[in-house]
Amino acid sequence: MIDIRTLFLGEEHTWLFLVECALRTILMFVLALGLMKLTGKKEVRQFSVLELLVIIGLGSALGDPMIYTDAPLLPSVVAIGMVLLCYWALNKWTNRAPKLERFIEGRVTRVVHEGEVDLRALDAQGMSVAEFFGDLRVLHIEHLGQVKTAYVEIDGEVSVFFREDDAVRHGLPLAPEALEHPVPLESIRNFPCCCVHCGRGMNAVQHPACPNCGSDAWVPAMNSKRVA
Ligand SMILES: [Zn+2]
Repeated sequence: MIDIRTLFLGEEHTWLFLVECALRTILMFVLALGLMKLTGKKEVRQFSVLELLVIIGLGSALGDPMIYTDAPLLPSVVAIGMVLLCYWALNKWTNRAPKLERFIEGRVTRVVHEGEVDLRALDAQGMSVAEFFGDLRVLHIEHLGQVKTAYVEIDGEVSVFFREDDAVRHGLPLAPEALEHPVPLESIRNFPCCCVHCGRGMNAVQHPACPNCGSDAWVPAMNSKRVA
């Protein structure tokens, strides 16, 4: 026989426990927000920080009472309500306070300018160069000379403004097989080369290491037009 009180509130809890649940949810929501800011959230794309918090919070609150007999329903309902309330309140608040929004959601960051990768900006977005080059390949970009500027959006997606076809310059090829085969520094005398790490172009033998990022691996640059 199903005991209704046990089902909804649990055996040993009083009604006051529901208030405790609401407080617990708020504290865990704030803690999860802090953790997400600390660890970076770029691994999960297409969601804002707040949306991700809701998904995590709801998943746990909804799932446990479905399968655990010692997880009563009402505390979960309170937790779900509080998660949605926190989401709604923070959404309202961030819409009115741009500084808070930037703190929680991050900001759009320019990571390529004039065919060169801003490694510091990329690092601040928690994105590796390899991962970023992969995103550019998905956008059918063959080399950085085709790119005027690129941005990492607040949801971690990469967006690009292209150069006009007749303004395409020499740039770092993005095909993995090209990046894996650096050429000797002396080759730079014969053809334009780019630093494999940041895309800095080099037309003459000046330094063995890239003056921008310190890498000493160079590959021949490309200047092909974009294939639509
Ligand atoms: Zn470099």
